[in-house]
Amino acid sequence: MASKSKILVFGASGYLGKYIVKASISQGHPTYAYVRPIKPDASPSKLQVLKEFESLGITVFQGELNDHEKLVSVIKQVDGVISALAVPQYMDQLNIIKAIEEAGNIKRFIPSEFGNEVDRVRGLPPFDALLENKRKIRRATEEAGIPFTYVSANSLAAYFVDYLLHPNEKRQEIVVYGTGEAKVVLNYEEDVAAYTVKAVTDPKVSQLKRVHVPEEEIVKLTETLPYPDNIPVAVLHNIFVKGDQMSFELTDKDLEASKLYPDYKYTSVDEFLDICLVNPPKPKLAAFA
Ligand code: NAP
Repeated sequence: MASKSKILVFGASGYLGKYIVKASISQGHPTYAYVRPIKPDASPSKLQVLKEFESLGITVFQGELNDHEKLVSVIKQVDGVISALAVPQYMDQLNIIKAIEEAGNIKRFIPSEFGNEVDRVRGLPPFDALLENKRKIRRATEEAGIPFTYVSANSLAAYFVDYLLHPNEKRQEIVVYGTGEAKVVLNYEEDVAAYTVKAVTDPKVSQLKRVHVPEEEIVKLTETLPYPDNIPVAVLHNIFVKGDQMSFELTDKDLEASKLYPDYKYTSVDEFLDICLVNPPKPKLAAFA
């Protein structure tokens, strides 16, 4: 997709949707919102949001989520589609998928997720029912052959920090769930919106087919391959299956390089991939393939 793309957002007037349209505008993309038809008795807050959209230069299309013709005609005018529809509307995204399929021009679709990695986690039944709908939308997207990116933002930070700590209220206590020791992933809404917009416009974020190699298969190879061919397989097992490099906490006696030399500009994996595009290094690890 070109660096400036036309982005259509569903659920733009919602909690996360507002962050997404603002991120899209601030990244310079012509931005469109598909909203339910505004009724004469629409709430002042809804009208206020639409006014704000107008002042930001967002083009608003009004339509129902089951108006196929309308959906197709709007989708044909844009390059990428992001859905931030609310939980009860997850399955309505089947209509969006159908319209994207018919329009045939969309370079990337990001369905409404922004939470747990739904194919790899399970919740208690009431939560899993929501996750199951997200899984169904994933499968329908894949079956329709639409280019997609799934955004697993895990926990939205403002949303959950507010819920846990109530920073805007004076309280004498906080509630601790379970032991309070569970590790969680918190992503600030503005950041989630920014990388979601980047992903919908970035041709590099294509979905590679995943080929899963079960742990047992890898362990078996370390036992059956002759020496030294079994070494790289055992190394892969240790790093990528066991995650041993991150399996312990650093102590006061350890020196973490980024803290030791904080002024040095370390290269992120993202930057390294950019280097690869220009001048691919040829590390010895190629022998592991
Ligand atoms: P929301 O504010 O409740 O609603 C988003 C939009 O959905 C609304 O602005 C509205 O758009 C549309 N909508 C609402 N009711 C509708 C109805 N009856 N018919 C048709 N459209 C309706 O949604 P949200 O809380 O931002 O959630 C968006 C996504 O973020 C969801 O996937 C949710 O699971 C996720 N999320 C994740 C976390 C987390 O911590 N991981 C937290 C919050 C949300 P229009 O009125 O403009 O048509």
